Order: sequence, then structure tokens, then C-alpha cells
Amino acid sequence: MSSTKIGFIGLGNMGAPMAHNLAKAGHTVVGFDTAGTIAEGVGVALTAEAACADADFVITMLPNGAILRSVAAQVLPAMKQGATLIDCSTVDVESARDVGAQAAEMALGFVDAPVSGGIGGASAGTLTFMTGGTEAAFAAAKPLFDIMGQKAVHCGEAGAGQAAKICNNMILGATMIATCEAFALADKLGLDRQKMFDVVSTSSGYSWSMNAYCPAPGVGPTSPADNNYKPGFAAELMLKDLGLSQQAAEAVDADTPMGALAQALYAKFVEEEDGRGRDFSAMLPRLAARSRGM
Ligand code: NAD
Repeated sequence: MSSTKIGFIGLGNMGAPMAHNLAKAGHTVVGFDTAGTIAEGVGVALTAEAACADADFVITMLPNGAILRSVAAQVLPAMKQGATLIDCSTVDVESARDVGAQAAEMALGFVDAPVSGGIGGASAGTLTFMTGGTEAAFAAAKPLFDIMGQKAVHCGEAGAGQAAKICNNMILGATMIATCEAFALADKLGLDRQKMFDVVSTSSGYSWSMNAYCPAPGVGPTSPADNNYKPGFAAELMLKDLGLSQQAAEAVDADTPMGALAQALYAKFVEEEDGRGRDFSAMLPRLAARSRGM
């Protein structure tokens, strides 16, 4: 792809390495962040509008839907004809759809493209993008996804990327808790954790949480459990995503009892206990230290 002009809004833990990878690939990237953060190889703009005025693509990597809405209100009117807004933040489905509709009204492209892969994937350029938007907008954005990531799945219309992301993470939150509570039960039954892994990882209880990201230290492939539960994927980020899935479930009247319970457990862990700043698999020591009815 020939050099493209890209405005990048939100140069935080994820945005900075993503913007850097685009610049490294030869694109002209101009960034803006209210905290004044910068990224290697990326030009600095004094306002969001200035970063976007001349850009073929504007990429946002922001904390939440309310901030996305306010940034979109600023930058959409400043974007040039035919440009595309790619929002890589994890936000609520409704915000993604609304911003997509506003972009369409202004004849601008829009793709919601939340990611999985975390800070390591952002730095290595190996993120997975789950995306929503028109075929044309997805096709236009695809070369940029190929630089920042290793896979981009087009899931449907605007909002479909966010829907896929929160459904995936609702499964992940619930299966991590189920895996941790099974280990905690196995401990109390006198079952060796390695034996538990050997059986479950090759039996019908297997999952990504057990097989690829085992919450028990010293068992299975190396995971944050082996690094004193340093994230990885922090419990508070899991709580954010579980909150978004419950918000979506309420909006469309979907019955999600496991997701609701997972949200409640992570909320307690993060807000009332020592979960903040720990990996989400630290649910295992939490459960292992408890007794029934605590
Ligand atoms: P972060 O807090 O490090 O970065 C967000 C950045 O946005 C900050 O630098 C902040 O100053 C900036 N910002 C806030 N308001 C702004 C505004 N109005 N204009 C310009 N900049 C503004 O967060 P992060 O870890 O980089 O995550 C970004 C998004 O990616 C979130 O939606 C998060 O849920 C999602 N995500 C994060 C991870 C992860 O492992 N960190 C993984 C997958 C998805």
C-alpha cells in the first residue's frame, strides 16, 4: 500500500505501539492524546481536529464509548471527503452504531474494530481485529489491520465487531471463573493440580482458560500465574468488558445469567478486594483462599 495519511487519537498503552507500527510501515501518522503522550515515529498535533484534517484514515484507541462519542463529534466534521474512521477501542455496541451512523450521514467510512491480543500484540503487530462496517469500509481499512495485526474478521454491519468482542469476553470471564473454582475444589479434594490439568486439558472441561492460560502457577504453558499474576489481561479490563456485555444484554433483553454472575464476581474482586492491577486469572488464589458461603 502506498503511503497513507493517518490521524491517530489516543496514544495510550495500546494506541502508541499501534501508531508506531503504522509509521514504521511507511505511513505518515500524526497523533493526538489529551495526556500529551507521544509515539515513536509519529508526528504530534495540538488538537484532535488538526491530527485528522488531512488524513485518509482516522484511528481512535480510547478508554470508553462516552469519550469515543465526544472525540467523534470533534473529528468527523474535520475529516476530509471519503476518509474512514476506524475505532479500535472497546466500547458499547450502541456507541459504535451511533458513531457509524453519524459517519455515514457525512459520507465518511466507519469501521468498529476492537482488538484482542493486549499490549504485547499491539507492540508485536499481532493483534486480532473483530470488525463491523460496510464491505467497502472494511476493504479500505484492511491493509492497516494487516500492519497492526495478524487477523481481521469482518463480522457484519457497524457494531458487529464490538458485539463479537463482548460475546467472546463474556465466555472468557465465565470460563476463567469456572476453571478457577474447579481448581479450588480439586485442591480441597486433595487432587494434584498437575493431574487436574492433565485430565481436564484433554477432556470435555478444556478451554482456552485451562489449556492456553492456565490460572495455576507451574502448570500448563507459561501464563501470568507464573509471574505472580502480573497482567496479562488485568481483572479491571475483564470487568469493563463484562459490564459492556451486560449493558448490551439489557438493551436487547437477552438472558445471560452466567455473564451477570461473572460480572458480579469480578466487580467484587476489583472494587472490594485485591483484584485491581492483578491478572484476571488471579481469581484462582481468591477462590482457593475462601470457604463456602463466605
Ligand atoms: P489507555 O488508558 O492506556 O489509553 C487511552 C488513551 O486515550 C490515554 O492515553 C488517554 O490520555 C487518551 N484519551 C482519553 N481521552 C481522550 C480524548 N478525549 N482525546 C484524545 N485522547 C484521549 O488504555 P489502553 O490500554 O491503551 O486501551 C485502549 C482501549 O483498548 C480501551 O478501550 C481498552 O478496553 C481496549 N483494549 C485494551 C487492551 C489492553 O490490554 N490494554 C486489550 C484489548 C483492548
